[in-house]
Amino acid sequence: MSEGAAKKEDRRKFQAIRGTRDLLPPETELWNRVEQTAHEVFATFGFGEIRPPIFEETELFARSIGEETDVVSKEMYSFPDPLDLGEMYAQYRSLETTSPGAGQFAVWANILPGSQLIAARPEATASVCRAYIEHGMQQLPQPVKLYYLGPMFRRERPQKGRYRQFYQIGAEVLGGSDAPAIDAEVIEMVMTFFDRLELQGVQLDINSIGCRDCRPKYVELLRAELLKVKDKLGPDSQRRIETNPLRVLDSKLESEQGIIATLPRIADHLCEECAKHYAEVKHQLRLRGVMYRENWRLVRGLDYYMRTTFEITAQGLGSQNAVCGGGRYDGLVELLGGPPTKGIGFAIGEDRLILSLQESGKAPAAQGRDVYIAWMGERAHATAVRAAKDLRKAGFSVELPPMEQKFGKALGQADKLGARFALILGDNEVASGEWTLKTLADGSQAKFTERDLLEHLRKSL
Ligand code: ATP
Ligand code: MG
Repeated sequence: MSEGAAKKEDRRKFQAIRGTRDLLPPETELWNRVEQTAHEVFATFGFGEIRPPIFEETELFARSIGEETDVVSKEMYSFPDPLDLGEMYAQYRSLETTSPGAGQFAVWANILPGSQLIAARPEATASVCRAYIEHGMQQLPQPVKLYYLGPMFRRERPQKGRYRQFYQIGAEVLGGSDAPAIDAEVIEMVMTFFDRLELQGVQLDINSIGCRDCRPKYVELLRAELLKVKDKLGPDSQRRIETNPLRVLDSKLESEQGIIATLPRIADHLCEECAKHYAEVKHQLRLRGVMYRENWRLVRGLDYYMRTTFEITAQGLGSQNAVCGGGRYDGLVELLGGPPTKGIGFAIGEDRLILSLQESGKAPAAQGRDVYIAWMGERAHATAVRAAKDLRKAGFSVELPPMEQKFGKALGQADKLGARFALILGDNEVASGEWTLKTLADGSQAKFTERDLLEHLRKSL
């Protein structure tokens, strides 16, 4: 590379990676409000916050979510955890001693024994279950109620409401019984949260997808029925007859809708226990005044779900309108090596939740400063610094320009920042102890002593 080319390369502009984005003010104010509301509402239901790591062993997700799912088979950011050099050299030497050439190959192919695949988490339920087992939480009073919020990673095609780094707010109830009142209370909690945020057009869909006994029988029946109409289905659904027939019910293809409507419905094939559980969940929802719609085609994309499943949609999101998905996953903790444990949870797509709030005008307007301090002169500067400190201590948002500027320019600046008031501090003000406060909306001015000023601001902001 010539020197010129190298320089040009150095000056290349960086861009956020496809499917990731910066969240900026004032939008981040809305994010904070949503998260604050989650902390408050979930605490009233007795949930505590867990913050699991952002990466985990790939195997944790593969085993829990399922190898056949889209998430695991093609969407995970999974990579070998680089060994440190000393470790790598030791591995290389030992391989070379047993069979010459093997060490070199292993280094090159990045498959040294001891190196493990790690993944940026595509969801957090598996992590929460891992943590439950790892910290022996079955010794605590059951059930253990945990919630989390943070980024998740899936390599999907980016579009409105679908990103490669997106955010979820979720909760899990682990251990204790699988009483239908638990399912209903978890759903009630999400609905309360959405209600508090004034999310518009909220629709709750529920279903039961049976258990380890009745679901496989239903899946076989479904597969048999699907095989009869195979020719009329698109390639995706044809493939799913083999891999995951339930997912055919999820199809949005116009041409398949008529056929799907004639397929057997799981509600008619639940075992007695599951049917009873489902009926009781509905009863418990009604007790809590939670409105729901039964949707027999609601199946979830992850393998670990059983019995109660639910999805919540909201308005203003186009085809990516699911803001929350959840359900029961009684076998999951055991599958991950823990004791038999009941479990139920949900995950809210925070990006979509925010989009929907923005679309319906629930986003706060950009917040300007409360007070802009226009100062001139060295003595006024010292006073301005002290005033800024006191006003901030009282909780006001204050802009203190770092350099002296003419009052006219300073007031223009205050206007641009959307400040409510300008505090004018010049030699006269400092000498007399009477400070000038200008209300920027109407241009009116009034004089205050330092003490009265605080009082006045408290009343008017
Ligand atoms: P979808 O059917 O919309 O792909 P999903 O079934 O893959 O959703 P879950 O794994 O249940 O979603 O995750 C729960 C919620 O997380 C979804 O309802 C959605 O709001 C959000 N979500 C999932 N994937 C993304 C993504 N790539 N970008 C933004 N939000 C997402
Ligand atoms: Mg998905």
